Amino acid sequence: MADIDILVSEVGPRDGLQSIKALMPTEAKKAWIDAEAAAGVREIEVGSFVPAKLLPQLADTAEIVAHARAIPGLTVAVLVPNARGAEAAIAAGAHKLTLPLSVSETHSLANLRRTHAQVLDEARAIADMIRALPEAQRPHFEGSLSTVFGCTLEGAIPDAQVARLAEALMAAGCDEVGLSDTTGYADPAAVKRLIGLVRGVAGDAALTGIHLHNTRGLGLANALMALECGLTTLDASLGGLGGCPFAPGASGNIVTEDLVFMLEAMGLRTGIDIDALVAVRSILAAALPGEALYGFVPDAGLPKGWRTQA
Ligand code: ZN
Repeated sequence: MADIDILVSEVGPRDGLQSIKALMPTEAKKAWIDAEAAAGVREIEVGSFVPAKLLPQLADTAEIVAHARAIPGLTVAVLVPNARGAEAAIAAGAHKLTLPLSVSETHSLANLRRTHAQVLDEARAIADMIRALPEAQRPHFEGSLSTVFGCTLEGAIPDAQVARLAEALMAAGCDEVGLSDTTGYADPAAVKRLIGLVRGVAGDAALTGIHLHNTRGLGLANALMALECGLTTLDASLGGLGGCPFAPGASGNIVTEDLVFMLEAMGLRTGIDIDALVAVRSILAAALPGEALYGFVPDAGLPKGWRTQA
């Protein structure tokens, strides 16, 4: 990251596409990833190794990983629900694996049909699998603390439980943990509190990234607080793809175009050309007719005299 200050991690091809009914053709996904990488995006979560019958939208993930790996300088990230998914991700050549652990055990059982102990067993199995690889081939392994800002089933999760699970993921062999506002419950004070909590038990180096949704309009405010607290990786989705089924008008993930605008306007280098990034929306619009795309910057345009940070 020598030449950038903040890593904007595009998660639209995974989080965005899994949230909509339409299937994006494989060739359009490849064109999307190519165009974002060409605009300067350094990390893209390109899919998820879940059974195709659960998420047909992401059934072509192995092919997408193989394609994205050929793009110089791009970190190819994927979600893996378990060790079996990690095995497929490693075989495909992904650079970064993220295993979600829902800090709400009710949510974990409902979504992954696994208790916390079972997810931690998967984390250990994945870490062992990675350690068995030659060093140069080992993917980065993140454990993501999902529903960490609150769960639609359980509500608020006690801080002590979050701290215990963050420590347990690191002890299981994760390289780092991430905070994930799966439900869009986060607010800036909670972002500050949980970053302090997790860094307090796992160390500053163990937490560098956050995954935010804009469900209640606080996405960029939360991102700003994460920056103030020293995080350097922010997830976002082009056009806020996916939206929120419970909150019409709200984007899904924070909008990549708006996030990059905020960061660059603050003098932080992302390495991303906003005009080129906004142009990528045409690929989504053509491949997903009728799907809503969000974002203020694409509609309003850039301010007079705008200059991307060199
Ligand atoms: Zn998400």
